[in-house]
Amino acid sequence: MTHSATVPSPVTAAWQPPPGSYRITRTFDFAAAHHLDGMPDGHRCARNHGHTWTIEVTLSSTRLVGPGWVADFADLNPLGAFIEDTLDHRDLNEVLPAPPTSELLAAFLADWCIRHLETRLGARLESIVVSEGGANRVEFRPDRRRAQ
Ligand SMILES: [Zn+2]
Repeated sequence: MTHSATVPSPVTAAWQPPPGSYRITRTFDFAAAHHLDGMPDGHRCARNHGHTWTIEVTLSSTRLVGPGWVADFADLNPLGAFIEDTLDHRDLNEVLPAPPTSELLAAFLADWCIRHLETRLGARLESIVVSEGGANRVEFRPDRRRAQ
């Protein structure tokens, strides 16, 4: 069976997507050490140790740009460069402005994305998800009611 070149594509100039929003997610990995101060005696998080951290950044938009995307995934490369330059193979206790829990790391990266990605891309930061590996994940979602 052959397909004729005259078979109309489902995507035509007359076709419009239904109302809705789009989300894109990109994942970054890096390795870093940390420990938590003020923990009870013997708590494992009090000892300096390392993780391969996974960061998932999710952006959303109701409008598409370019050929029909929220953003070119390559436009998220600056976040990868920031992670590599600032966090990778570092002691997070020395580079974060707050105790290096996954929650505060997620908020720290969300702050960077709001400042450096949102305006450039015209997309909203929905969430930053941080995992230290294993089964646990932490998510930070900016509270837009308090913005500005
Ligand atoms: Zn840890």
